[in-house]
Amino acid sequence: MPLPAKAAPGDGLGHGDDWSGTSVVLLGTSGGPVPMLDRMMTSQVVVVDGAAYVIDCGSGVVRQLYRAGLTHRMIRNVFVTHFHADHVLDYLPLVLLGRPIQSCDYQYAAPVHVYGPPSAGQLPPGVPAPGVAPVNPANPVPGMVDLHNGVLDAFAYTVNTQYLASAMGPDIREYVIPHDIGLPETVRPHPIDSPAPDMAPFTVMEDDHVRVTATLVPHPWPFPAFAFRFDTDHGSVVFSGDTAASENLIHLARGADLLVHEVMDVQGMLATGRPERMVTFLHGCHTDVSEVGVVAERAGVGALALSHIVPLSLDSPNPPRVPSRRWRARIARDYGGPLFIGRDLMRLGVLGGPGQQTAPPARRHR
Ligand SMILES: [Zn+2]
Repeated sequence: MPLPAKAAPGDGLGHGDDWSGTSVVLLGTSGGPVPMLDRMMTSQVVVVDGAAYVIDCGSGVVRQLYRAGLTHRMIRNVFVTHFHADHVLDYLPLVLLGRPIQSCDYQYAAPVHVYGPPSAGQLPPGVPAPGVAPVNPANPVPGMVDLHNGVLDAFAYTVNTQYLASAMGPDIREYVIPHDIGLPETVRPHPIDSPAPDMAPFTVMEDDHVRVTATLVPHPWPFPAFAFRFDTDHGSVVFSGDTAASENLIHLARGADLLVHEVMDVQGMLATGRPERMVTFLHGCHTDVSEVGVVAERAGVGALALSHIVPLSLDSPNPPRVPSRRWRARIARDYGGPLFIGRDLMRLGVLGGPGQQTAPPARRHR
């Protein structure tokens, strides 16, 4: 569907100029590293009084940011939930294209700090397949800092000739600073045996607009996989990342104004002929439509938005249609708050922020 040349704030298509308060744009809403014609891969952005915080950078993130009316100049931070391809494929264009260039007013105004998982420490069992050598055997499980540096190394010729100190702009290495998220010392997960033990949320970063907290969620594999919560002066938003139904996530999301949760459709995938073994495997690391309402209700969130939508197709870039009526009826059995079934560029306003309105604060029941 073509976008109108100038869409108004709140119509869900972005391109409005009003970024006051807190709002969320679902930039890409497909789940899985599968090319799709009508949905980009997973990425979201929280905007707080004009400051933008990007969560995940699946394929299409730069295009979707600019379609939403945002620019690199507004980006304060980038957060990566985990290192599956559908969440990190477009890391390079996201960070590289923001380097300031003379006479260009839409690129970074200040250095951007990136927060992502540390190294898993070891590969999952059975990976790679028997007899297959891993890529980069010296460091087969890079964390965020190693990933960032490795990407720049791989594109050294491009970076050296186009993105290092010159009349065109400053050194990209001074504008994007990666960080491995450090877990509290009291949390002792094991990458294989206990990837998401019960834990209290911990602070990742804080500035004048947001306090970002995180928890480990079960998404084997990779390890670690994080969910993030953003508390702002205008309400709170939680992103589940990819996870099976999670007690840690319920703890993190308690009383939040908006929960953006991943979802898969076990019944729908089996009905459309997906192999049972594959569906069962996926259900071990994702949350079914029959479970997500319970998560939202137990967390007492003001509104629920579904993203990372997996009734995926492996034989066509046209995914099966989302059975919205069935999903709404199923979720309504467990959760009575507003429900948004995500589509790309859906914009949600938190506590009166610009966008489709989520719940009033009165609904919260901690
Ligand atoms: Zn994913």
